[in-house]
Amino acid sequence: MGSQEVTSWQGKNVTVAGLGVSGIPAARVLHGLGAVVTVVNDGDDERSRTQADELTAEGITVRLGDGATLPEGTELIVTTPGWQPDKPLFAAAEAAGVPVWGDVELAWRLRGPDAAPWLAVTGTNGKTTTVRMLASMLEAAGLRTAAVGNIGVSLLDVVTGDEPYDVLAVELSSYQLHWAPSLRAHSATVLNLAPDHLDWHGSMEAYAADKGRVYEGNQVACVYNADATDKPSTEDLVRGADVEEGCRAIGFTLNAPAPSQLGVVDGILVDRAFVPDRQKQAQELAEISDVQPPAPHNIANALAAAALARAYGVPATAVRDGLRAFRPDAHRIEHVADVADVAYVDDSKATNTHAAEASLAAYESIVWIAGGLAKGATFDELVTKSAKRLRGVVLIGADRALIREALARHAPEVPVVDLDRTDTGAMSEAVRQAARLAEPGDTVLMAPACASMDMFTNYNKRGDAFADAVRELGGSA
Ligand code: ADP
Repeated sequence: MGSQEVTSWQGKNVTVAGLGVSGIPAARVLHGLGAVVTVVNDGDDERSRTQADELTAEGITVRLGDGATLPEGTELIVTTPGWQPDKPLFAAAEAAGVPVWGDVELAWRLRGPDAAPWLAVTGTNGKTTTVRMLASMLEAAGLRTAAVGNIGVSLLDVVTGDEPYDVLAVELSSYQLHWAPSLRAHSATVLNLAPDHLDWHGSMEAYAADKGRVYEGNQVACVYNADATDKPSTEDLVRGADVEEGCRAIGFTLNAPAPSQLGVVDGILVDRAFVPDRQKQAQELAEISDVQPPAPHNIANALAAAALARAYGVPATAVRDGLRAFRPDAHRIEHVADVADVAYVDDSKATNTHAAEASLAAYESIVWIAGGLAKGATFDELVTKSAKRLRGVVLIGADRALIREALARHAPEVPVVDLDRTDTGAMSEAVRQAARLAEPGDTVLMAPACASMDMFTNYNKRGDAFADAVRELGGSA
């Protein structure tokens, strides 16, 4: 962005919708650019008041307890991603002709003239893993990079900071994409699409359309999931996008790849897209055993990351070295310990049925710990697809009856322990019950297919409780 645009922030009336992890930095950055900033926030609790006091001392106006009314004179709204599009503030903005940007849109607009291009990753599941794999590959290629976005590292900080980058690996949520109309990535992927957050988006179509925005204006590659059978497929989203001339559609598949795809042949990850002669050649990238953990859905993540890295020109050896150096984040199919020849695996991050289905597909014989807040999900398909792998099931949490009923319908022979307690000791008992059901060689898999907030502060705490309970059994990590 040129200096002209920077000066245009002087005196501009900007309303920031929401405090919190993205609202506060946005307010500070805008204030620093000379804008006249008002933060509006629905809540008026103690934490908000402390945050408001800090911002007020810096010269930023904060209005607590009313996030609905558009402040007089607002020329632009910058919203935190969690704010639902049907909020009255946005209706008021539309009526007044005031544009609404998300934190990602703001970061995109504030990039400097020689800013690093973005390789963008979205999808229902696997975003964080894929972005980290991608950053690891880019690093292995000697590039200055960072994994940023919806991953704990603020894009705003990175684009306004002093550290120079060659290229960024950017995780984007559907909320962020909804509010990022002018974002134009170098290359991007939608990993997969399954119903999630439909309350926020209003419908599956709207959710898919927001995810599909990541492909708009791509310069080099739109990477899609060639194995997906759901409609709309991620390939449909690519077809619907308006991209730069010469930008290619690149598929990833767990099968042998067609031309312009990356896939798997005899246990080797191969590239038939970024090779000199696409009809004939295949470039070997890595072995399946280089992917941690080597579960099918994770190999898909590795292929998607490799496609983006290759689109940026990363050599095959760096793809392999990046995969070898990659370590999964906690609570994502994390092997906690082996006890009495039974493996205990923490996939607390499997907070929806699509994620749980992927991790259940990764093991042969499973005692499954499941349950929590279902967020409107149904479990028939998940149970039907996974039934043959289930040695037993231990159910916890508020909506466990939904899973119990699906099990009764589709897997009546599988033993089920239904734990009717939500106190802090519940996870210990769940693990003890799972240990009782398991036989040597089995995996006890905590992949709850539900959110955790009925019993725990978040999925991290749920995973920690599981690991503690496994240690109580006498396991060593
Ligand atoms: P996100 O950032 O999209 O939430 P993560 O990489 O944190 O994704 O993984 C979240 C959970 O989703 C994992 O614990 C795993 O259960 C599941 N998962 C990961 N990758 C995939 C995939 N490609 N398809 C389906 N499920 C996946």
